[in-house]
Amino acid sequence: MSKFLSENYAKLVPYVPGEQVNLKVIKLNTNESPFPPSPKVKEVLSEEVIDKLNLYSDPELKELRSAIAEQFGVTPDMVFCGNGSDDVLAFAIMGFCGAGGKLCCPEISYGFYPVYADIFGVELEQIPLKDDFSIDVNDYIGKNKNIVIANPNAPTGLALSFDDVEKIISSNPDNLVIIDEAYMAFCGESCMELVKKYDNLLVTRTFSKSHSLAGLRVGFGIASKDIIDDLNKLKYSFNPYNLNTLSIKAAAAAIADNEYYDDKIAKIVATREKTIAQLKALGFKCTESKANFIFAASDKIAASELAAKLRENGILVRYFNKAKIDNYLRITVGTDEDMQTLVDTIQTIV
Ligand SMILES: *Cc1c(COP(=O)(O)O)cnc(C)c1O
Repeated sequence: MSKFLSENYAKLVPYVPGEQVNLKVIKLNTNESPFPPSPKVKEVLSEEVIDKLNLYSDPELKELRSAIAEQFGVTPDMVFCGNGSDDVLAFAIMGFCGAGGKLCCPEISYGFYPVYADIFGVELEQIPLKDDFSIDVNDYIGKNKNIVIANPNAPTGLALSFDDVEKIISSNPDNLVIIDEAYMAFCGESCMELVKKYDNLLVTRTFSKSHSLAGLRVGFGIASKDIIDDLNKLKYSFNPYNLNTLSIKAAAAAIADNEYYDDKIAKIVATREKTIAQLKALGFKCTESKANFIFAASDKIAASELAAKLRENGILVRYFNKAKIDNYLRITVGTDEDMQTLVDTIQTIV
């Protein structure tokens, strides 16, 4: 640490991203898609667009917000875009819960929520899950705090039903409820339509998982116009050009290509179900994941040891050295072939 860092940040414990590697490995550690993005993305990244990079990107993100709005049946003024959905979550937690505010989230969930709470001085309550890793909805009814829940949750993969999510939203009318739908495309029940019914709901999504564009860094939030106006006020006070021209074009092309992504998502879901069945046959416990990853544990081998052995075999998975889940591995669903290699390798190890 240099002597210049503000005291406020001296004790920050930053988020630790999953490892990125250049070696030839089977990479099942950060929930990326194994498929390339839609071919439409390549088409729009033309020389003409590159030649215009001397100009600033559109701070209003008109093209992208319209494309997203069209997909979800809302108006563009209900869409906020960020440099990844992490950016959207950061603006929301800073702006709506910021210094001195209160926020709660499940104890086992996305690792960034506590980090954002910490950096923005938000008092965070982390609510334990039930023993089966599910969220007890009753814990969030009439909570009188802002709430952030990943649905499906990570790293458990378990999803709340539409009705349960609506109960949480409707019973907390004076607080913001953020539903982080990063993994929703993989077959959960989205609450997106409720943004028209409730003014305290912000739903966030990302292009990183379902749309094979983790490297592009685009995410978005959909909410009432008032919430989006607030988020824009924060954005214009911090980084008006938070998306670059290439990202805007590429994401707008991707979101419109339902045919391509429906096919890829269906493949991932089918491979997920197949792999879960194979792991169960090898004696693993697996949660009923509605995401593009599997959460699995074996009685025969410690998760940390299995992760290390898979690594020696060129397969990366995610191990969390954290109470209650330290015997589980989070395994991203790759291609059918990669997952077969995983299962075969696990079989030889155990
Ligand atoms: C991956 C992830 C995000 C962030 O994704 P971005 O790449 O920043 O869009 C947000 N929430 C959850 C639960 C995630 O797993």
